[in-house]
Amino acid sequence: TTESEPRAQPPPAQEARRSSSGVQSWASAVRVTPVSGPPPEATNVRVVVRMRPRFGVELKGPEVFQVDASQRCISNAGRTFRFDAALGPKATQATIYKDHCKPLVDAFLEGRNATILAYGQTGSGKTYTMGTGGNTASGQDGCLMHTLQQVLSTVDDWRVQQRREVTYELSCQFLEIYNEEIRDLLHPSTPSHKISIRETSGGSIMVTGL
Ligand code: ADP
Ligand code: MG
Repeated sequence: TTESEPRAQPPPAQEARRSSSGVQSWASAVRVTPVSGPPPEATNVRVVVRMRPRFGVELKGPEVFQVDASQRCISNAGRTFRFDAALGPKATQATIYKDHCKPLVDAFLEGRNATILAYGQTGSGKTYTMGTGGNTASGQDGCLMHTLQQVLSTVDDWRVQQRREVTYELSCQFLEIYNEEIRDLLHPSTPSHKISIRETSGGSIMVTGL
């Protein structure tokens, strides 16, 4: 997860890199540190590792990763790495939202930009954690549904507290990039060539045509 940063200013502790393709990346996007090394610099990027439960053929072999949540570490083959948080197979969807996503949504509701990104190989649990599969069992809502609930209920609270009719405008986009093609998941019939990713003169990235 990425902690909030005010008004899209690049965080000072990070180094912007521009590759030959013109795509920007942040040098500190990955924060994995050997346990023996010095503590990582404080930045507003946080990396949380979630190990999903093993299933199927995985149960036939030995457990190859050990999670130590209190030390924020994951060990494999004698090597131990520390993250900003390390969560084992028993971590629930609700806890993950409350501890690692809600602070970002709180900051978003105060006017800051925030990003929550799931990264990992196929089958590692990205869709499950984000809850974008659409058919999650009850009580298993992922990050997306919890975020929508928090945003909508907060806006409702504001409305009630102000005791008068206030109009808030919320908009959202839902897109998929697959094989370099962009699909508008809220309007799947939009041809992908009508959607493009552009950089604004202010240096921020936006998607047009959704
Ligand atoms: P990805 O999107 O990274 O390819 P998925 O989210 O589809 O992976 O997860 C693969 C499978 O593992 C799915 O059947 C999913 O329901 C299950 N799964 C993933 N994470 C968990 C978890 N924390 N608890 C229980 N089942 C999980
Ligand atoms: Mg997936």
